[in-house]
Amino acid sequence: MFEGVIPERLDEVLSLIESHSAQFRRVDDKSDFNLDAGAFGAIQFAQRFLGQLWLFDFAGLYALHSFSGVIFFVKSRGLKFDIAEIDGLPEQKEENNCFSKIIKTIQRLNSAESKYDFAWPAGIPKLQEGKPKDIEQAAVFDLVLMATTYFFLHELKHVIFKSEGSSPEDRLIEEMECDAFAAERMLSKIRDYSSASGYPEDKVFMKRSISIALGSAFLAVATPRHNLDGTATHPAVHDRWSATLGRIELEEDDSYWLYFASLAIALLKHRKITFPSQLVVSYKQLAVATIKALEEASNK
Ligand SMILES: [Zn+2]
Repeated sequence: MFEGVIPERLDEVLSLIESHSAQFRRVDDKSDFNLDAGAFGAIQFAQRFLGQLWLFDFAGLYALHSFSGVIFFVKSRGLKFDIAEIDGLPEQKEENNCFSKIIKTIQRLNSAESKYDFAWPAGIPKLQEGKPKDIEQAAVFDLVLMATTYFFLHELKHVIFKSEGSSPEDRLIEEMECDAFAAERMLSKIRDYSSASGYPEDKVFMKRSISIALGSAFLAVATPRHNLDGTATHPAVHDRWSATLGRIELEEDDSYWLYFASLAIALLKHRKITFPSQLVVSYKQLAVATIKALEEASNK
């Protein structure tokens, strides 16, 4: 997977894995959102975690269908983005339902006793079937691989901290540093990749950034409402979102921001968190506004 997603970093990552004796271990059928760095360098992940991420990626696609057009429209007309008004639009209800249904399935998958214990949502291909032929779904497939790579890199950094005995005293700082390590591995040598592969640098940057946004947004689903503002071991989700977005240097109206804003608005709506009516100055500004809304709701 590292080879497919970040070939320009393959040697570096493999040598880190080797020198810190990190092992990736698939554990079948544990419930709960499961990906962690356990003792002795083992990075454990449950097969269903990948399934959840895959479903979440499709939810992102629905969110984009549901909100990007409206956001574009109100922005170009200088109107306010008003969620209550948007809900009144004819097709909107169905789009919202599609999104909520997937999120609920992801959560149900969490408590299912075994992977055979629940029904796979209609219309969504299975991850095991490989890369879909449909162009949009194929893009989703690539994003899942990238987001998974991001999560693995995050866990790898935990293993490195442990193996070096250099973990920060503050667990929250360790989490943020693992996020930063993963993002840096994904984003900072794209030029090398582009000159070797011929893929345009800005497109690669956008795709990888979106996969990181997806991973980061997934935390808002994996985290119970009362923990959104952080726990003793995990930083507040809005802080991680802020840090993730803070690393992205793309133009204010890049599709990246539109993707993040659409997904975040859909998530806020699903969690019944108020998103105030507002003018859309830029996609970036709207994305930042979603973080503020999440922060305010988390503090309550
Ligand atoms: Zn972590």
